[in-house]
Order: sequence, then C-alpha cells, then structure tokens
Amino acid sequence: MNNAKRRTVIAGNWKMNFTPAEATAFINEIKPMVAGKDNCDIIFCAPYVTIAAAQAAAEGSNIKIGAENVHFAESGAYTGEVSAKMLTACGVEYVIIGHSERRQYFGETDETVNKRTLAALAAGMKVILCLGEVKEQRLAGITREIVSMQTKLDLAGVSAEDMKNIIIAYEPVWAIGTGLTATPEQAEETCGQIREVLVELYGKDVAEATTIQYGGSMNDKNAAELLSKPNVDGGLIGGASLVASKFTAIVDAAQ
Ligand code: PEP
Repeated sequence: MNNAKRRTVIAGNWKMNFTPAEATAFINEIKPMVAGKDNCDIIFCAPYVTIAAAQAAAEGSNIKIGAENVHFAESGAYTGEVSAKMLTACGVEYVIIGHSERRQYFGETDETVNKRTLAALAAGMKVILCLGEVKEQRLAGITREIVSMQTKLDLAGVSAEDMKNIIIAYEPVWAIGTGLTATPEQAEETCGQIREVLVELYGKDVAEATTIQYGGSMNDKNAAELLSKPNVDGGLIGGASLVASKFTAIVDAAQ
C-alpha cells in the first residue's frame, strides 16, 4: 500500500451468493465491525437482485455496494443483461468487469471487457477491472506479457482523465477460489509490472495514482503481508467476503 499516493480499496465479490435477506443480515453484522475504519474504501459487489437490500442495510455506513458485471449497450435485445444506466439509476457506483469467472464460463474476452469498461465509465461508474494469468502462463514464464496485453486491450480508449475511475484487480486465475495465494513477492512483482504498463500508457502521475488490488484467496491470515507490499493497494476478496470476521480482519490489515 502507498496511502500517500493512492486509496486502498478492500472489495468483496459475493459472486452467486446471498439472497436479499442474507445480504441484509450480513451487512447488519459487519457494519459495526468496520465502522470508523476509514483508511480504506470498503465495497461489496453483490448479485443484481441483492443490491437493493444490501444498499438499504449499508445506508449511513462506510460500506458501498457495487455490481458484479454490466453490459455495454444502453438498452436492447440482450436477455439477462443489465446496463450501466440501469445500475446508476439504482445508485450503484462500482462494478466489477472482466472477472476470470466471466471470462472462463461466459465467454468474455478482452474486447467485451473493454466495451463494458467504456460503457460503465461513460455512465459515470467506477470500474474494478480484473485481469491475470492462468496457471500455464505463469509456469511458462509469460505472466508479464499476459498482464501487459490484457491491461492494454482492456483499457483501450480509456482516457487519462477516466483512469481516476479505474481500479485494477490483479487476479492470478490459479489463485481464485483455490486456496492457493500468490506469494507477496509474486503479487508485488506483477502489480508493479501492471503499474509499469500504466506508466507507458498514461505517464507516471496517473500510474502512481491508480489503485491496483490483489485478488486470489486473500484471507484474514495472509492479507497483512500481501497489503504490506508497496504496489498492492488493496484486495478483491471472494470466499472471505462472505464471513464477517474474516473480511473485517482484512480491513484491519489495511489500516
Ligand atoms: C474473486 O472472486 O475475485 C476472488 C479473489 O475469490 P477468492 O478470494 O475466493 O479466491
């Protein structure tokens, strides 16, 4: 973390978990546990149908509620999709785009990730843009090339001005939901490489102001060490974001 230059963001990705009633109970449980811990932004990204309940429970607290995806069109024949206009109309400010599960199971590509990102930014949203290598790519020693390519493709057409609304989540795919965590050194190295790409694309000032999270089995036990690294500006957390005590411990590690 480098709090002098950029905001630390601890974000939960609930994935396909929590009914509205369960989300309400969870937010009511965790709200007092994270109250006053203002050294980082705290966000939970929720399934669409759960957002309203989570927002109502979070009202007046330091918890923000985001979405887990957004479509690139404003409206139209895209059954099952939700637009940025719809999300902002519901008061949703943050959205995850490009999560590896979307890429793996729902055919999302860097091209659609880029289109979704541009649409979300145009609607005034803040984007948590996920990218990262698969196991074979890490073993082949091409992680730098992969994250560099993804960063460039996913951010194509994003202006330097709009970068203030982009958070990058470096998520090695082999570490998501597997219990395998990148070592703090691996996380630092790759987050640093992504920042170098941002320097190339936008210059030093923008690169140094951009929050780059690590995601991949971050939990109450490993968060402090990961977050101690200068280029790791927070976490995107799946499994541990469903357990109030674990998520709170990660927020504490970010203080
Ligand atoms: C994620 O869903 O982005 C994630 C990092 O999941 P987990 O923490 O469960 O690995």
